[in-house]
Amino acid sequence: MTRLRAEVLVIGGGATGAAAAWDAALRGFDVVLVDRADLAEGTSGRFHGLLHSGGRYVVKDPLAAEECVAENVILRRIIPDAIEDTGGLFVTTPDDDPAYGDRFLEGCRAAGLPAQEIPAAEALRIEPRVNPGISRAFTVPDAAIDVWKTVGSLTAGAAAHGARILTYHRVLDLHTADGAVTGARVRNELTGEELDIEAGFTLNASGAWAAEIVRMAGIEGIGVIPGKGIMIAMNHRLVNTVVNRCTMPSDGDILVPIRTVSVIGTTDVRAADPDEIPVAQHEVDAMLADGERLVPGLRHARALRVWAGVRPLFQDDRSGPAAADTRDVSRTHAVVDHAERDGVGRLLTMSGGKLTTMRLMAQDLVDAMCRQLGDERPCRTEHERPPGNDDGRYLHLGDRLRRREATLQDEQLICECELIGRGRLEDAMRSHGTLHLDDVRRRLRLGMGPCQGGFCMYRATGIMHAVDRLDGEQASASLLSFLQERWKGVWPILYGDQLRQARLDDWIFQGLLDVEHLPEAAAVEPGAEPAAV
Ligand SMILES: Cc1cc2nc3c(=O)[nH]c(=O)nc-3n(C[C@H](O)[C@H](O)[C@H](O)COP(=O)(O)OP(=O)(O)OC[C@H]3O[C@@H](n4cnc5c(N)ncnc54)[C@H](O)[C@@H]3O)c2cc1C
Repeated sequence: MTRLRAEVLVIGGGATGAAAAWDAALRGFDVVLVDRADLAEGTSGRFHGLLHSGGRYVVKDPLAAEECVAENVILRRIIPDAIEDTGGLFVTTPDDDPAYGDRFLEGCRAAGLPAQEIPAAEALRIEPRVNPGISRAFTVPDAAIDVWKTVGSLTAGAAAHGARILTYHRVLDLHTADGAVTGARVRNELTGEELDIEAGFTLNASGAWAAEIVRMAGIEGIGVIPGKGIMIAMNHRLVNTVVNRCTMPSDGDILVPIRTVSVIGTTDVRAADPDEIPVAQHEVDAMLADGERLVPGLRHARALRVWAGVRPLFQDDRSGPAAADTRDVSRTHAVVDHAERDGVGRLLTMSGGKLTTMRLMAQDLVDAMCRQLGDERPCRTEHERPPGNDDGRYLHLGDRLRRREATLQDEQLICECELIGRGRLEDAMRSHGTLHLDDVRRRLRLGMGPCQGGFCMYRATGIMHAVDRLDGEQASASLLSFLQERWKGVWPILYGDQLRQARLDDWIFQGLLDVEHLPEAAAVEPGAEPAAV
């Protein structure tokens, strides 16, 4: 069996694990990061896309609010390339209590959040589609954050400092000796090969799967509650600013503009299993109805795709009875020290938190590791920019179009919705070396616009076939598994124009390519949802 050695093993390649790998590598530790799938394929790749100003939590969860206020400023400084500075509005709709606005402002002042009340008419001038019945409005520094750029940049930074980033490597077991974790056995999910990683310290950043990981070291009862939320992408930017309802956090009360689309979300219910989070029709109906309160007519826009994610909410069974409602569990984070809690050394678990606070979470985690090792090394992530952020510019929606126009005559356009040219696609395929079109989607947003892959995916499959020298069966398998994955997100929202679009996509893939009878079809793992393409 192949063996690897590292000073630090990070389990989980979501935002928290990527930030922890970057932090530890910057402090000079030799790091290996493993994820059972691609980077950010867990909750981080299924979140709402909001860089919180903290406004959402100022009344209910002041500590979480303060953390967001501070981290919002830091992330804008260190990873501007992943952030679109949309700004945010909190608005009092006719269904909300106007007096909450006073508590909101008071909370903002206490948390140090620069919020400002503006006339409702001014808010409607900024965002004309917002409910004309709003009575109050407040501006806050919310923004949209691209998680794939974030995680890609942090892991590239870690790798530049010597870290090894092993995607598609699942932890099967933790090794223990003399009351401490000494590494892990992992399996390469693409080749089936198993390897042993000998590690001086293990950081468990596996989010909603954290309890499953520590059970491998015989540790029971750490309280990670999977809090499920759904989100729906609408087919264009209904707003250009993040728009929140000014009320206690509830369902469907935030609309986030993300690149060419806008996303309404979310819900918060306890899930039994983080890997089983289907979306029910009634959840879709309720979400669209909630969205109508913010933007009347929202349900007449085309719903492109629905998906769900699971919050790794922390509530230890040693810290009192569990909250009945997942919304009542704090959004702050906790480092679980298994030496103190369970007598198992050299293992720490990160639990809770937000994507907005991932840097701080990583700092707390690596600080705790340094303390346990008796090897204090200062954290540098507050000021150091990972690769791709050198010019200090925020992401601008128009940048891709500007770049595209410069090569309009010379380069073939593969994805019209997201303006992805052939050169960029080939570069991504070459550098990532993946067989999965879904991985390429995450890197470039390929197939994530209004046609949801209808026009670009068969082109991308052909290009992948040539670039990666896939054989016909591998290329077919990749296309089919992409279509299956898309289908899961599309079938619960099939009505109106989206139904027409899905029929068109179906004709393209069935009629032109006869995808259901491609050579490999039988070998593709059917998704949990209805098996159709
Ligand atoms: C619906 C919803 C909306 C949200 N919206 C926002 C928002 O707008 N803004 C915000 O700041 N926060 C938001 N959050 C919270 C935020 O998304 C999470 O806190 C954050 O993404 C968690 O990141 P993570 O790295 O801890 O977990 P994950 O991203 O889930 O990473 C854990 C990783 O561990 C891997 N893993 C699991 N088991 C194994 C194993 N055996 N071996 C190897 N790897 C393994 C998984 O594949 C996964 O990639 C939202 C959460 C939800 C659910």
